[in-house]
Amino acid sequence: LNHLKHHEATTVCYSNNNSLVLPPAEIIFSIQTLPLDGSIALYGHPFEQIAARDFGNIYHFPPLAVLNPNTVSDISLVIKLVSEMGSASGLKIAARGHGHSLQGQAQAHRGLVINMESLREPETMQVKYTNGGQVGLPYVEVSGGELWINILHETLKHGLAPKSWTDYLHLTAGGTLSNAGISGQAFRHGPQINNVFQLEVVTGKGEVVTCSETQNADLFYGVLGGLGQFGIITKARISLEPAPKMVKCIRALYSDFSVFAKDQEYLISIENTFDYIEGFVLINRTGILNSWRSSFNLKDPLQASQFDSDGTTLYCLEMAKYFNPDESEAMNQSVEHLLSELSYIPSTISLTEVSYVEFLDRVHVSEMKLRAKGLWDVPHPWLNLLVPRSKIHDFNQEVFGKILTDTSNGPILIYPVNQTRWNSKTSLVTPEEDVFYLVAFLSSAVPNSVGKDSLENILNQNMRILEFCADARLGVKQYLPNYTTKEEWQAHFGSRWEAFFRRKLAYDPLALLAPGHRIFENAI
Ligand code: FAD
Repeated sequence: LNHLKHHEATTVCYSNNNSLVLPPAEIIFSIQTLPLDGSIALYGHPFEQIAARDFGNIYHFPPLAVLNPNTVSDISLVIKLVSEMGSASGLKIAARGHGHSLQGQAQAHRGLVINMESLREPETMQVKYTNGGQVGLPYVEVSGGELWINILHETLKHGLAPKSWTDYLHLTAGGTLSNAGISGQAFRHGPQINNVFQLEVVTGKGEVVTCSETQNADLFYGVLGGLGQFGIITKARISLEPAPKMVKCIRALYSDFSVFAKDQEYLISIENTFDYIEGFVLINRTGILNSWRSSFNLKDPLQASQFDSDGTTLYCLEMAKYFNPDESEAMNQSVEHLLSELSYIPSTISLTEVSYVEFLDRVHVSEMKLRAKGLWDVPHPWLNLLVPRSKIHDFNQEVFGKILTDTSNGPILIYPVNQTRWNSKTSLVTPEEDVFYLVAFLSSAVPNSVGKDSLENILNQNMRILEFCADARLGVKQYLPNYTTKEEWQAHFGSRWEAFFRRKLAYDPLALLAPGHRIFENAI
């Protein structure tokens, strides 16, 4: 307790309306008196060190305490108490999934962090059907703190799997559903937020609410892509499809961006296409283009992104086709046909077959390698942009032609998606065109470096990209957005700001939740 008192003066004060206002530390003491199934860890506990960190490794805000909930009621009780006792105290609450945010989004400076992974309840992860029998639509009900890798393994036991993924599966359902969850399946199925039947949410008032398209729909759509602003996702029903056993992975290089983009857009526009379509950029990776095919290991995306591009800029189209072993022949014919329609550099085509799990969990292979070299826990100044199709050529010319001189700091993904297949009712903000590109600059900085791989240099580069997008009025939106002022957030949401604000007022009027985004500092 002394630690806490040292951290925060324990003076009782009065708010404007003369009601008792307790300082944050006192509220934490009160939370400890609640009949919780889980536990509260105070400042100084090892978990606190983790709660002040994230994958970005740039911002570190220590909380006062960490709640390890065992039940949904733990979360509800705590939020209710904070909202009743601490409305003016400034104590904020951040749900923390797997902490793979980039700029402190899951942190709460001198606040309370809720460790959602302690609510995982794996024994309750269940595959069911929408009508209760076996003829409805299959879904899995998961805890908001469940990791996608666990969801995959559980659903595969039933021959099923979620339809839409992220490239990396060691993220929680609540964490990705608060953003979008975009990967190479999103052109067809939409992002993960478009593949959810129902949510259970604890609002900023501590109320536990079940919501779906037909029940409390405003909260349902608000929470999906809502950056944790309206409630904490404690359960989610994720839509499933039959899972394939195998995946054919194909990569091919292009030297001309227009041809590359034309082929990508063609592939996402047709019905019988690949199941996964992505791509990445290679700028000025000096060496031998010829070795591309022989030494290229498709199971290792990290290695792929380090490929030589002979001093020029190359674009790699990445495709995958799902299949079961007994469908091999038909799959190969279909792939052959699709490839015959494309205009890649013929000598650069590379095909391989891997299991479905290996394919989906591919980034974990890179993680293990980077961890072994001590290169995983470095600063990650990532920048993710959604670029309208009509402006992608301008973007390519300036960013890959002038601003960036190489891709040695990490992979740069680039692939188009069909907005027409996405549900526009969620809180996610996207460009206003039927097709837009996800461009992800997944940079790693070298700690204590002052060179081009320094954090400062990469952040400057990101700034130049953002400035170019703004000056050229490209209509680009940030994905996993990061802003510091309310004005910037308003500009990000544009015409949708009013709805976002109204939902905050309805579900978290004291602005207790998800302070790390810096959207709402004070009660509304
Ligand atoms: P956290 O970082 O813990 O939380 C993220 C935000 O969600 C915070 O604001 C937090 O308060 C809030 N939150 C967490 N849990 C809940 C909950 N249960 N209810 C309400 N709010 C909650 N994204 C993609 O779309 N596609 C990708 O392919 C992709 N690949 C990635 C690869 C790596 C290696 C990394 C580090 C990130 C990647 N991301 C990708 C980004 C990722 O989706 C987000 O960073 C996501 O938020 C991380 O999930 P998390 O569980 O770590 O969330």
